[in-house]
Amino acid sequence: MSSRNAFKLPEAVRTKSRFRNAIGKYRLNRTGDCIACGKCVEICPYGVHVMRRGRLVANHHLCVGADCPEPCHAACPVQALTLRRNPDFDAMGDFRWTPDLLASTWHMAEFSEMPPNHLEYKIGGSAGGFDKLRIKFPPVKKGDKSLLEADDDPDMGVELNRRGDNAHKIRIEVPFYGGGMSYGSVSITTMLSRIKAAATLGTFCCTGEGGYPDELKPYDDHVITQVATGLFGVREETIQRVKIVEFKYAQGAKPGLGGHLLGDKVTPGVARMREAVVGYPLFSPFPFHSVYSVEDHKKHVDWIKAMNPKALVSVKVSTPTDVDMVAVGSYYAGAHIIHLDGSYGGTGAAPDIAKKNIAMPIEYALPKVHRFLEEEGVRDKITVIASGGVRTPHDVAKTIALGADGVCTGTADLVALECIRCHNCESGRGCARGIATTDPELIKLMDLDWGTQRVINMFLAWRKELIRILKRLGMKSLKELVGRTDCLVHLDYMRKSRF
Ligand code: SF4
Ligand code: SF4
Repeated sequence: MSSRNAFKLPEAVRTKSRFRNAIGKYRLNRTGDCIACGKCVEICPYGVHVMRRGRLVANHHLCVGADCPEPCHAACPVQALTLRRNPDFDAMGDFRWTPDLLASTWHMAEFSEMPPNHLEYKIGGSAGGFDKLRIKFPPVKKGDKSLLEADDDPDMGVELNRRGDNAHKIRIEVPFYGGGMSYGSVSITTMLSRIKAAATLGTFCCTGEGGYPDELKPYDDHVITQVATGLFGVREETIQRVKIVEFKYAQGAKPGLGGHLLGDKVTPGVARMREAVVGYPLFSPFPFHSVYSVEDHKKHVDWIKAMNPKALVSVKVSTPTDVDMVAVGSYYAGAHIIHLDGSYGGTGAAPDIAKKNIAMPIEYALPKVHRFLEEEGVRDKITVIASGGVRTPHDVAKTIALGADGVCTGTADLVALECIRCHNCESGRGCARGIATTDPELIKLMDLDWGTQRVINMFLAWRKELIRILKRLGMKSLKELVGRTDCLVHLDYMRKSRF
């Protein structure tokens, strides 16, 4: 992780849906008139139709519908095929995670590529924030691909220790790492899939606040252990094992509320890890009652440094209006990373009323923090990581242009594992996809190798798309994009700008 050339990124491997009928935008209906002539298999450019033991089956989720250049239903000699929009598709998701964004993330997790144009993969439907921002590319002559064809890929690495102290020098090879999701809020398979993928990609993944299960030990060098108000599973030994320790002061999805794990998720394994009682709900209070000033915060940071002098300290905060002061205070307290968590992040367990109404969206908080750190003269001494609704590689580019060095993801990883955003995460048997569950039966729905590869594939696709974006901007490294708000345009001001 220390030099650009020493690390080799993993290969993408096609990893199909684990469900027999993956959800797609369209559905094809084949009537009994079909004579199994194989014409549809022959002409479909997307491999939707497959002949299996003399029977025709369809991978509906691969169909591009009206965008198809060779529609099978028009070519069928006996008109046995009809195409329609899939009502299940339209019932999924919400304004931020639209059905198109869910399906396009599944496509990236399956193929490690951007989806075909029938899916909108760059923005959601919230009509605000990232969805109202566009990247402003310099004008090029029609057909001129010279920028995209530039030989060298831009440098995508991010240095995490910019203080120049004696702590680990860590460089991650992709500008993202996995945000905390605790043992108990998600299954051990989900947790391990994200952490194994992070290790393979040369980055990190955070444990969240539910303790440090033994299964994570082989990946210690890629784990960020979290210290949150509940102090569940926090041990000297776990702090000494890792290279990065994160203090979670608040979470953008529910600032001021702390955490709440419903009793039906507190299984014997979860209870053991958190030293709690099986079946009883668990709260992590808000705030840390030991911290009311920068000096108190410094005591926390010093505590970690006393136990593990080489560890990098990350400070996760939500985005109140004075978040810029908080960031500067964290720098002076000795933190290496300030992790800003805006509203709109969180799994389906975070209450909507909190997600949408308390913290500042990350799109507003970031430029404020970036500028304040610059004015204080310490911007290049601290790493700024942002999270809270980062869904796509285009969101990553926008986040960095707004002032972050890198991003932290959470929900996108779950979507790669085929989350449908049904918002049932808090309930023990609620997750029909076996992702946010501690139920022994539901956990079996997902295989670890499958989950790991899906997350790897999605992030490799993100990286490829980010490289394309940087090349189109004529940039040689991701660092050049940090704080370049001039590379963005807000749709409300679009008429006034020319691009
Ligand atoms: S409409 Fe086109 S993409 Fe869809 S299944 Fe038929 S041939 Fe394939
Ligand atoms: S599919 Fe599972 S992880 Fe996704 S929102 Fe529903 S309950 Fe949560």
